[in-house]
Amino acid sequence: MAEIHGEGIGQGVAQGPVALMSAPLEAPTDAPSTRTPDEEKQAVAAAVSATAAELNARGERAGGSAQDVLEAQAMMAEDPTLLEQVHERIDQGATAEYAVHVAFAAFAEQLKALGGYLGERAADLADVAQRVIAHLRGVQAPGVPDPGHPFVLVAADLAPADTALLDLDQVLAVVTTDGGPTSHTAILAREKGIVAVVGTGEASFTEGETVIVDAANDAVVTDPTDEQLAEAAERAAARAAAAAAPVTPGALADGTAVPLLANLGSPDGAAEALELGAEGVGLFRTEFLFLSSDEAPSVESQKESYRRLLEAFAGKKVVVRVLDAGADKPLPFLTDVEEENPALGRRGIRALQHREQILRDQLTALAQADAETDADLWVMAPMVATVDETEYFTSLAKELGLKTTGVMVEVPSSALLAEEILRHADFASIGTNDLVQYTMAADRLLGSVAHLQSPWHPAALRLIKMVADGGAVNGKPVGVCGEAAADPLLAVVLAGLGVQTLSMSPSALADVRAELARHTLEDARRIAQAALAASNADSAKSAARAAA
Ligand code: PEP
Ligand code: MG
Repeated sequence: MAEIHGEGIGQGVAQGPVALMSAPLEAPTDAPSTRTPDEEKQAVAAAVSATAAELNARGERAGGSAQDVLEAQAMMAEDPTLLEQVHERIDQGATAEYAVHVAFAAFAEQLKALGGYLGERAADLADVAQRVIAHLRGVQAPGVPDPGHPFVLVAADLAPADTALLDLDQVLAVVTTDGGPTSHTAILAREKGIVAVVGTGEASFTEGETVIVDAANDAVVTDPTDEQLAEAAERAAARAAAAAAPVTPGALADGTAVPLLANLGSPDGAAEALELGAEGVGLFRTEFLFLSSDEAPSVESQKESYRRLLEAFAGKKVVVRVLDAGADKPLPFLTDVEEENPALGRRGIRALQHREQILRDQLTALAQADAETDADLWVMAPMVATVDETEYFTSLAKELGLKTTGVMVEVPSSALLAEEILRHADFASIGTNDLVQYTMAADRLLGSVAHLQSPWHPAALRLIKMVADGGAVNGKPVGVCGEAAADPLLAVVLAGLGVQTLSMSPSALADVRAELARHTLEDARRIAQAALAASNADSAKSAARAAA
């Protein structure tokens, strides 16, 4: 047996025979066209509209956030600027196929150079190009194999069109050699609860070989022993039992309540989150609503989205974060400056303070939606680094009619100042993704420093404890809404550190709920203590495991 390491998505484990993704189409050559430019352009127009129609139709079938992703791809296919570049190449004598190939690749390179969220869209563009070329050739687009039995899908990376439509009765797990934890494959796998390990690097797999995909341990086991297969099957069965268990409110074994909330980026996810037992929303990422807008949204248009969200969670707590723009989530209407280090630049509350009218409009829309609905709306600001920013945001939000106003703790300075900050804020929510990034000075999107990005690091855990203590002194609630809350054992540690609520992707709720129920508050405190006393992330995790 051998272990191949990558980034596990979720806590699942699965086993089965490998089926390799079918190879991409052979690249078109630059042989001169034998048709007129007009004929080539007509062929492109037909292929592009067939591709867009196909993607839209698949989106409609898939629904949810998959639909957004597929519709965005359909728009890429018909992008007029891109089409102009294709036409230019046809006018220079290229065939339709070659012109599409070159123009799309050039655009993908530009996106890659931008890095971050946009960089990861380069893979989407390559997929669209393959689909258009397949239409031009009149052949099947490359895609997910269909070996006729359940399989572990192995691919370089998956295009959203493939991930969105995976037949979950056939696909036991997904392994990708490329792609990171923020790739579309990872986002959609997390959302659909597909067992996945991404970014394994240049690992080679053989068609038909049996592997164990162990997302909880960030590994793929090839040539597994019988014992390993049996142990994996046992874990998978235990997980299935936990998922099928009746949905109860989050609580430790002694009954201490730890409300489990959902992280959402659109009101569309509300029904599923509720079905999975979300007791409310702990983080609504409003910037996700406007990633493709060039102009700031009007009060009216945003109010509609907030109203839908609050209606879905009537009687429950809903924590909405105001726009978190900048770094990997640029919003053209809010972050238009070129910065060398955008993660350290004018992002989050800094950008909003700079463009206060946008913040005022958003808070106004939230207050209006709140007045028309029955959820318990809490509003918070992202990337708060100082007491002054806390006072600025909470007083402006109160002035505009919001009742419960707090801050996210994502910058070490605000963890260090938590006691003071929580004198002014009604609550704090710890964003561990950024808190770890800034504590460890390790870009959260950069694979080369991934070993430093663990929320298990005692440096991060100690800061989290400071925030929880700051909340206790002031009698103010402290929650966690970063990915850390979705790791079941870490969730126990967080509860032991004094964190009161945990918010996560809805697909993680069942695993976290089951793990919390195994430990009393006293246990959780002891487990947290063991992790805190460690000197690095791995030993913190091992110490917590041993203590549990
Ligand atoms: C975080 O930083 O942990 C967080 C929840 O915010 P986001 O992931 O949206 O930056
Ligand atoms: Mg953040």
